[in-house]
Amino acid sequence: MFPKTKEILRKARTIWALDHASSLMDWDLEVNMPVEGVQERGIAASEIAVLRQKLLLDEELSSLIGNAEKEELNDYERGLIRVLKREIKIAKALPPELVQELARVTQEAKVIWREAKEKDDYNRFKPYLERIVELERKAADFLGYEKHPYDALLDLHEEGLNTDDVQGIFSSLEPGIKKVLSNIKGEFYGEHWLEKQKYEVDAMRSLNLELLRILGYPLGSRSRFDVSAHPFTIHMGIRDVRITTRYEGFDFKRSLFSTVHEFGHALYELQVDDALMATPLSKGVSLGVHESQSRFWENMIGRSMQFVEGFQNILREKLNFLKNVPAEEIYRYFNMVKPSLIRTEADEVTYNLHIILRFKIEFKMIDGSIKMDEVPEEWDNLMEELVGVRPKSYRDGVLQDIHWSMGDIGYFPTYTLGNVISAQIRRHMMKDIPNLHDKVKRMEFDEIKSYLKDKIHRWGSVYAVHPNRTFIYQYVELCRARLGSSRHGSEPPTGAVLPSGTPSPPTVLYSR
Ligand code: MG
Repeated sequence: MFPKTKEILRKARTIWALDHASSLMDWDLEVNMPVEGVQERGIAASEIAVLRQKLLLDEELSSLIGNAEKEELNDYERGLIRVLKREIKIAKALPPELVQELARVTQEAKVIWREAKEKDDYNRFKPYLERIVELERKAADFLGYEKHPYDALLDLHEEGLNTDDVQGIFSSLEPGIKKVLSNIKGEFYGEHWLEKQKYEVDAMRSLNLELLRILGYPLGSRSRFDVSAHPFTIHMGIRDVRITTRYEGFDFKRSLFSTVHEFGHALYELQVDDALMATPLSKGVSLGVHESQSRFWENMIGRSMQFVEGFQNILREKLNFLKNVPAEEIYRYFNMVKPSLIRTEADEVTYNLHIILRFKIEFKMIDGSIKMDEVPEEWDNLMEELVGVRPKSYRDGVLQDIHWSMGDIGYFPTYTLGNVISAQIRRHMMKDIPNLHDKVKRMEFDEIKSYLKDKIHRWGSVYAVHPNRTFIYQYVELCRARLGSSRHGSEPPTGAVLPSGTPSPPTVLYSR
């Protein structure tokens, strides 16, 4: 290892400590904080954001990185330099006043959004959305872009991804999905009676906990499982990754699949190589790859017939109303397709249409070609055009997602990227793990988890995904090939170098 790497890691450790604190504050805000604490939390969060930016802009850190770049580095070191340089570039581009203002506005907007959604009052949220779009547009200008300001925002969420890439993926997906949708008829189309079935929250919680136990989620020792308005996963470190779910009281698959989904996100972070602990490489490489992990467990595993067969007895034991429901019927309930209003509850077929809608609106908002007054109607029109249904309330339309209130514009496309990548992973896994389906049926997940760890998770953010427009299957091969070809061998930074904690990128909340 290049000796200066130790110094770089040491400097980044202070930044990591701030991120650790910010994560805890964000988790608390979503799970525990009293409503009126929001103002002071906003002030604290924005002060931390500015402090973090100062640390990133430290001249000594930049010069250490500059010197390191001239050396022969191993893959881990190159990853370290790549991740930090990218962060410094972003921090340099954005003026502290803008960072502070964004942090302050979004902390407040998150709470206002929740209220506005509850009261079905778009006008309550509108000035915040307007301000956030304005600030994001400014941020895009400061960050720079080749073709469209939206490119800059996409890149913030998915390193190297641009508008043309997204349009390319969506323009082939949209007609394909519409064709599939028009072919789904009969018993898998429409409503299922279980969607109306009420459940006891205690019973559902117990079912979720049993599921997490079977999946091997290290509850208590390295993780927590709480309730929040919007299910999410948050990372304090490799040994502390927390998830949430929600309980609507009916249609139990919503709560169940939220839990499986967040488990997928958490597993990624929990399986990062221990040696990368508390370094900037200790997190998942991108939102798209992250979402591929949640979608893999939710859709590829959770919605399979084999999973239902393996899990059916527990389902019936925990939820009385399933007592006489055969596995085939539960499988049908899990896989019903029906155009609907809410993205997070959408089936696999229509889900990406919800994302295409958001992409189209975000593009126009950042472009300035739509006014905030017009957003709800644009939403409703697009929903009708793409999905074939029209919302009757803001709550079921434009106010349904938390993302814009958090300033996350350019985030949604990573969900579809995740869906596409998860399907690629399944295709490869089926070739590499014999009798994959039988193992799911026996609820044996160790081999699947090891596979994901070996191919994706353990690497953290060592290798970038998009610089050559590669997709995940190539990414996986890349990681494997590079392991053998590293010039200085591939020993990762170890605990010896990193006393008790070191650095990492900004607070991450993998919302659903
Ligand atoms: Mg997710």
